[in-house]
Amino acid sequence: MTDITIALSKGRIFDDTAPLLAAAGIIAQDDPEASRKLILSTNRANVRLVIVRASDVPTYVQYGAADLGIAGKDVLLEHGGDGLYQPLDLNIARCRMMVAVPDGFDYESAVRQGARLRIATKYLQTAREHFADKGVHVDLIKLYGSMELAPLVGLADAIVDLVSTGSTLKANYLHAVEEIMPISSRLIINQAALKLKRKAIQPILNAFSNAIKN
Ligand code: ATP
Ligand code: MG
Repeated sequence: MTDITIALSKGRIFDDTAPLLAAAGIIAQDDPEASRKLILSTNRANVRLVIVRASDVPTYVQYGAADLGIAGKDVLLEHGGDGLYQPLDLNIARCRMMVAVPDGFDYESAVRQGARLRIATKYLQTAREHFADKGVHVDLIKLYGSMELAPLVGLADAIVDLVSTGSTLKANYLHAVEEIMPISSRLIINQAALKLKRKAIQPILNAFSNAIKN
């Protein structure tokens, strides 16, 4: 039997993927939140899950260390998608990529006046492209997390970040001023693995495809 490795991140991606895996007849033997194991076996002897950082999922699949993976569009845009086949939008882990500013900052007029804006973000590619399309000059400051803090301590005028309910923004006296794009997670497949392991991968792809909720 062909061995299949699937790369996933803990948290919302794992939670939203578990029902899709179940639809494909794949059940993890351990709970990644409770276990410290990075390789989880499943009820199927030939299928294993590897638990990695969300932003590392495309890298594992690109190099064939995993055959399949689930990654957010946010992560895929930053990675670039080299060596990846992206056949399915799974419509899970949905949120929006937004520009947000501190309450009281007049973003519209700053943009109108052609001000140079300092933007803190984890998503350099996406932010660069968004502001270039708008013709807004920006200095991008790369952060790895807690972007909401940056405008509060004078590190940036605005942030580009993922927003779902907006409660984190609100708790930090920020609000969204622009939607860049809707975000959801996709199934990604190593291009070589899809050719060499088609018989094992295709049924998983079909089961996912049938289980997607709109
Ligand atoms: P880490 O927390 O390890 O630094 P991360 O923040 O990228 O990494 P998660 O918070 O688990 O990891 O997010 C994983 C994916 O879930 C993101 O890449 C994105 O696609 C999606 N996501 C992130 N934040 C939200 C949100 N607020 N609502 C819905 N989906 C989200
Ligand atoms: Mg996170």
